[in-house]
Amino acid sequence: MNPIRWALVGASTIAREWMCHAITAEGAGQILAVVSQSQDRADKFAAEFNIPQASSALDDVLTNADIDAVYISTTNGHHFAQAIAAMKAGKHVLCEKPLALTLDEAREMVAVSQQAGVVMATNHHLRNAATHRKMRELVQTGAIGKPLFARVSHAVYLPEHLQGWRLNRPEEGGGVILDITVHDVDTLRFIFGANPLSTVGIGRNSQMAIQDLEDGVMAVIEFENGVLAQVHDAFTTRFAETGIEIHGTAGSIFAKNVMTQKAVGTVELKTEAGLSAVAVEHENLYVRSVRCFHEAVRGLGLPAATGEDGVWSLATALAVQEACRTYRRVYVAI
Ligand code: NDP
Repeated sequence: MNPIRWALVGASTIAREWMCHAITAEGAGQILAVVSQSQDRADKFAAEFNIPQASSALDDVLTNADIDAVYISTTNGHHFAQAIAAMKAGKHVLCEKPLALTLDEAREMVAVSQQAGVVMATNHHLRNAATHRKMRELVQTGAIGKPLFARVSHAVYLPEHLQGWRLNRPEEGGGVILDITVHDVDTLRFIFGANPLSTVGIGRNSQMAIQDLEDGVMAVIEFENGVLAQVHDAFTTRFAETGIEIHGTAGSIFAKNVMTQKAVGTVELKTEAGLSAVAVEHENLYVRSVRCFHEAVRGLGLPAATGEDGVWSLATALAVQEACRTYRRVYVAI
């Protein structure tokens, strides 16, 4: 089978650390071009990954008929315009989260993908984790009875090399809610197969981010299946551990060290029968995300997280942001 031929839009850290490998894994994809706002950055990135074309003009890539798909990992404020241009040029798009800065933009991205007849996916990596997939299976097969509550611990320390626009550029979608809460929402939607209804929350600025931009948040999200989910996200906690707990009428699931980019973590199930470890077969999350995307491009199913999934996670994150800023309960407007 011929490999899917990609262009990278954005000479980013996520592309460097995870996605170049994921795209080319198993020979399923080839990277033909990289676009950056800076020609120098594009050239260096291309040299590092042996990419034939490096450009500072998106059009150079969009007019290249050899390119099938585009991976967009620029700062959040650029996603919308770049994705729309790519899809209108007939390219399939895998876009980083959050899809855009506003709900209208995200909805338009999905509409344009449908009009253009191309695949559009959101790179919500966590639903590709074996741990989260196992939790979903446990919940969906009734292992914990009726799910009642969830608690997501996704408070981390933002690594020094990422302490840039996330902390000082609200106009680029900086702040912890658009960066991390979007992932929590997508993961919870995936595990429960249910959508969020409303949220309350309080944000915190601990002076890692600029004034008025949240670098920590605690929120409660109400889901349509009755679940109340508590999410705790931060850039500022050096020693916190990540995880998810899900509590139901007949059991609880404890997943530790699972809100991460790495294929690690454990899942335990506690019921009347006692506490037992649940076996999971770990796999690189991004490799799986790209594999699903490739299959979708070939007409064999949906990507792991669709454009609509990205609309839901953005809508909910924006609701959390508004709840924090108004101290009111906010309904998720989809
Ligand atoms: P980076 O800050 O590394 O890169 C973002 C963009 O900034 C790059 O695409 C590049 O754009 C520009 N840039 C890079 N270096 C410089 C520089 N020295 N000076 C000025 N601009 C520069 O961000 P991340 O890789 O961490 O995040 C990129 C996107 O990916 C975001 O949307 C983020 O939310 C998402 N993300 C998703 C993750 C996931 O697991 N799904 C994990 C991490 C991030 P250009 O080359 O076009 O100029």
